Amino acid sequence: MYDYIIVGSGFAGATAANILADRHGKKVLIIEKRSHIGGNCYDENDEHGILIHKYGPHIFHTDSEKVYEYLSKFTQWYDYSHEVVAYVDEDFIPVPFNLNTLKIAFPNDAEVLREKLVDIYGYGKKVPILELKNNDDEDIRKIADYVYENIFLRYTMKQWGKTPEEIDPAVTGRVPVLISDDNRYFQDTYQGMPLDGYTKIFENMLLNNENIDIMLDTDCKEVLKFTDKGIMYNNELFNGRVIFTGPLDELFDNRFGRLPYRTLNFVNEYLDKDSFQPKAVVNYTVSEDYTRITEYKKLTGQEAKGTSIMKEYPMTYTGEEGQIPYYAIINEDNLAIYNKYLNILSKYNNFYLLGRLAEYKYYNIDAIVLKSMELVEELEN
Ligand SMILES: Cc1cc2nc3c(=O)[nH]c(=O)nc-3n(C[C@H](O)[C@H](O)[C@H](O)COP(=O)(O)OP(=O)(O)OC[C@H]3O[C@@H](n4cnc5c(N)ncnc54)[C@H](O)[C@@H]3O)c2cc1C
Repeated sequence: MYDYIIVGSGFAGATAANILADRHGKKVLIIEKRSHIGGNCYDENDEHGILIHKYGPHIFHTDSEKVYEYLSKFTQWYDYSHEVVAYVDEDFIPVPFNLNTLKIAFPNDAEVLREKLVDIYGYGKKVPILELKNNDDEDIRKIADYVYENIFLRYTMKQWGKTPEEIDPAVTGRVPVLISDDNRYFQDTYQGMPLDGYTKIFENMLLNNENIDIMLDTDCKEVLKFTDKGIMYNNELFNGRVIFTGPLDELFDNRFGRLPYRTLNFVNEYLDKDSFQPKAVVNYTVSEDYTRITEYKKLTGQEAKGTSIMKEYPMTYTGEEGQIPYYAIINEDNLAIYNKYLNILSKYNNFYLLGRLAEYKYYNIDAIVLKSMELVEELEN
């Protein structure tokens, strides 16, 4: 009955389903284990009527016209340019570090330092701190030290649960300093927030399409079985294609061990005040156990009484009920485990992996939408 079974309804699965059904007239079944569509980009009103992102703040940004045009079929955009500040020494400083941060961090010699940075690297450049550290000028090196200590180190330790010694020097070296006055977090051509929220995008992509059926609250393992004959759907051989966007280790009952991830514990609070913090996202780079606080009204532009905030506490993913794997911990050992799972799949030639979980890698929204479009093009042409 179905040409495709797609496991997962995040941007990976939803994009594939929408294009297959709409452009190629394919019959698609989406199996989703949560009770809603949208994966980690799902948003909903909290009990105070404020739109929050249930699985952490998501800001859309892309340089891809193709992705922007595609998603614009399903939403209009709230014109929002993301700016992040870090809370350091009782001040809010723009991050990534730029020439405005310089003024706050080094109030006495900001002008001299600015001139030096612009002279040496050029206005508008993005310079990794490793390059600053290798500079002969002591003043330039002190900027690198400031960024490392106040913006990078503690934040990274919290995010990845590491000691300073465990942090890869190659990663540290890549932390950027922007030789510019542009406070925007992303420099992409297109950026914004979906005017009516992300969930609405998914609804527009998937609902009311007679070629798409959606099965919520269902782990695909309940209906899909991997046998010597092939992939079975409801105990019958499935001859269509299966696109899987979930975690591969869990699909095969972790038989080679779990793929390591970091997870997040989100703590939501409602405050009876108009505004809580200066920007939508404040990073806590030297203090607190949480990494950042998001104030949703400032992200979505919503007018509402009071304000809702969300604190993010990173922790190790254990697979415990209710936990969600968020960030793959990509290293050689973990990729070796991943490859063992990939090997199982070599005998199923109608099974395709797509998305941040199935591919065990990080994707931004635009990148996974593009990847999904490319997979469909490859399969259908
Ligand atoms: C905290 C955080 C913040 C982020 N912020 C941004 C941002 O600001 N901008 C940006 O561009 N990107 C951001 N991202 C990345 C963005 O979340 C991903 O690009 C996007 O979620 C990838 O979509 P996906 O479909 O691959 O995965 P998901 O959205 O995770 O969807 C996978 C779906 O598969 C379902 N599933 C899994 N296993 C099964 C199973 N066995 N059976 C049935 N269903 C199953 C899950 O329930 C889920 O709905 C962020 C990521 C994180 C972790």
